[in-house]
Amino acid sequence: MSATTLSETTKLRDTIARIGKSLFDRGLTFGSSGNISVRLGDGTLLATPTNMSLGELDPARLSHITVDGQHLDGDKPTKEAFLHRCVYCARGDAGAIVHLHSTHSVAVSILADVPPEDVLPPLTAYYIMRVGKLPLVPYFPPGDEKLADAVTAKIGTAHAVLLANHGPVVAGKTLLDAQYATEELEETAKLYLLLKDRAIRPLTPEQVEDLRTRQK
Ligand code: ZN
Repeated sequence: MSATTLSETTKLRDTIARIGKSLFDRGLTFGSSGNISVRLGDGTLLATPTNMSLGELDPARLSHITVDGQHLDGDKPTKEAFLHRCVYCARGDAGAIVHLHSTHSVAVSILADVPPEDVLPPLTAYYIMRVGKLPLVPYFPPGDEKLADAVTAKIGTAHAVLLANHGPVVAGKTLLDAQYATEELEETAKLYLLLKDRAIRPLTPEQVEDLRTRQK
């Protein structure tokens, strides 16, 4: 991975703040919940600070940390930085991560009758193309770093996981990929809840396989 230049880093900082505000303004995150990170060319991470609304991020004050948790610069990182770090360690292809407590995804994470190996059915082609597979990670209380091991165990087979009674963690090659996949997941969770009491016709295994082949 080549080093990220200063102007590229400045642009990335601005993009994190812009996407944070966009997510906040559209009600996908609230209070000081949710966090965003990107991996720079030198392997270090830019992450949103602790106790800070995604709607009010200051690009210059984002936390600069190493993948093993050392704080290099900026404000103190989100208390959930360990979640991001374990995903970057498990997935060499992850360039950015979005984690939200978005309402419909959290609602699905609380349902007792969803398959834990892949929570949502293949409702639409875009869900398959942007998210693909969504394993459920068992519940751990906030800040419990055992959650990192549980996420690591599941994230290798997918680039998104759903934390039980908590919310989604979504990795992407770029920040835009991670943002779009998180939004696709939230909308699919909403569709799933809308359809919960109806007979549904999800995509067939052949249709899902066809979409995966087309993406290769
Ligand atoms: Zn969280």
